[in-house]
Amino acid sequence: STPGGPRAKEDKIVVTVRLRPLSKREQLAKDQVAWECIDDNTIVSKPVDRSTQQASFTFDKVFGPNSITDTVYEEGVKNVALSSLMGINATIFAYGQTSSGKTYTMRGITEKAVIDIYNHIMNTPERDFTIKISGLEIYNENVKDLLNAESGRNLKLLDDPEKGTVVEKLVEETASNDQHLRHLISICEAQRQVGETALNDNSSRSHQIIRLTIESTLRENSDCVRSFVASLNFVDLAGSERASQTHADGARLREGCHINLSLMTLTTVIRKLSVGKRSGHIPYRDSKLTRILQHSLGGNARTAIICTLSPAMSHLEQSRNTLYFATRAK
Ligand code: ADP
Ligand code: MG
Repeated sequence: STPGGPRAKEDKIVVTVRLRPLSKREQLAKDQVAWECIDDNTIVSKPVDRSTQQASFTFDKVFGPNSITDTVYEEGVKNVALSSLMGINATIFAYGQTSSGKTYTMRGITEKAVIDIYNHIMNTPERDFTIKISGLEIYNENVKDLLNAESGRNLKLLDDPEKGTVVEKLVEETASNDQHLRHLISICEAQRQVGETALNDNSSRSHQIIRLTIESTLRENSDCVRSFVASLNFVDLAGSERASQTHADGARLREGCHINLSLMTLTTVIRKLSVGKRSGHIPYRDSKLTRILQHSLGGNARTAIICTLSPAMSHLEQSRNTLYFATRAK
């Protein structure tokens, strides 16, 4: 990437960082701010004392604690999300440690994308659009249907010769309008929260995917009889501490913090994709998450990764790990 300047090509992977404000609880605990966004592209660690080295990281965009989700969407996600209206698969990830702001950011982003999609539909009267939605959660490599809480558990992945990997029996609903789509999204979000109370800290271990399938065809017969179909995936990942190699084994056991296979595999896949053609074999098939997302990652697909960061000094180590991941992804 070109630090600070405009980029020569439309990147397949856009990597941004969002630093949240210090929470009330962190303020009360007199936690200190460890990071500062010094311009639109650069985040630096505040020196602890004169002897410590200041670390500096550069990305496509860096959003500071005062920036709103609208800005994150407009500058870091919009182009990627809207490519799905032209038949290009797209995936938006929130990556970061537990409590860094993944769910907060992803919910706002999803809302903005829905508004944009329906604006586009309004402004494109010559095409007929169909929007379908499915929602799933991957917990411990078990796939659960967020639109079918009763019977949608331990769903199998099947290899379809045409569609690639499909989730067997996953419910897909057709949204009749934007209101209906919002309603279906809220069902998925509520369902994930049910899991959260039942299982201690479910969301730090599970991945949530909300997938929109966007199809359109030209209304009138014309020279360009073109149909588009693409997936747009919103992925709220498990806490990145689940991919961390830096935990001492004892600490990992104590926390019950098992390495998350899907998250580990995803980081490998993304690292290899960012290296490009010479990266060799890409291990999509090693986890449920990467199998499900295979056709929306790499190839012609477009990806936006929002890395969320806690500003707290007490989270310094995990924040560094997140920035290292983000650096390798770009
Ligand atoms: P995660 O999903 O990464 O575990 P959450 O999205 O639940 O983290 O965020 C943790 C807390 O911080 C929540 O109370 C959330 O409302 C708050 N929060 C996160 N990001 C921001 C932000 N950019 N601005 C204000 N509050 C935020
Ligand atoms: Mg969350």
